[in-house]
Amino acid sequence: MDFSQFRFDKQGLLPAIVQDVQTGQVLMVAYMNQDALKKSLTTGQMWFYSRSRQALWHKGETSGNTQTIVQAFYDCDADTLLFHVIPAGPACHTGEVSCFVGASDHEVNHTPWLLTSTVEQRPSDVLQLLEQRVAERAAEMPEGSYTTYLFEKGIDKILKKVGEETAEVIIGAKNRNPAEVQYEVADLLYHLMVMLREQNVPFSAILQELERRYAN
Ligand code: AMP
Ligand code: ZN
Ligand code: ZN
Ligand code: ZN
Repeated sequence: MDFSQFRFDKQGLLPAIVQDVQTGQVLMVAYMNQDALKKSLTTGQMWFYSRSRQALWHKGETSGNTQTIVQAFYDCDADTLLFHVIPAGPACHTGEVSCFVGASDHEVNHTPWLLTSTVEQRPSDVLQLLEQRVAERAAEMPEGSYTTYLFEKGIDKILKKVGEETAEVIIGAKNRNPAEVQYEVADLLYHLMVMLREQNVPFSAILQELERRYAN
């Protein structure tokens, strides 16, 4: 293998970022020398160069938490590698899924510009959180909850609401009123989520269908 395209540092190393291909979570960062890179690309599992032990290191060799490589990338100036992997277990030697999270708080403080809302951080997570909340309500049926009320009333009530909210979306759009459209689409998506729960169709099935069409 010819790695002359890569800009190894003075110690002959490249930082390698390891990311879970399914969740997008950054799992760990470690270093690779040429041998580690060669091993990784030929075996399809992550190998690093341990700077402390000064030796090749097969990730998971003692813990069993190997990482199977799905795709490998290098950055714009070819001095950093990025690996998309399927991890067999936690990436961190502390037992945490990622080296960047955990019971011991790894968050750097004094960051007043921090974005706190889920929408700002990962927009698509909001629908997933909504699905989870609706499922919780369906399981626990807490008193005083509107979602509980809908499940108690049953499918006809839920469908009536889906119809109403659809009509309200149409009216908002006809009026060319963005605030109304925003509000009513939110209403509709919530009621659709309740309907999906009632029908035992997971939201992921909808996403899969959309993805299937997108692929065509
Ligand atoms: P493993 O490769 O998971 O079998 O772990 C073997 C050893 O490698 C551990 O005892 C740690 O010293 C080190 N190690 C494992 N995972 C990491 C990591 N994510 N970051 C730094 N060191 C690690
Ligand atoms: Zn770079
Ligand atoms: Zn770690
Ligand atoms: Zn509405």
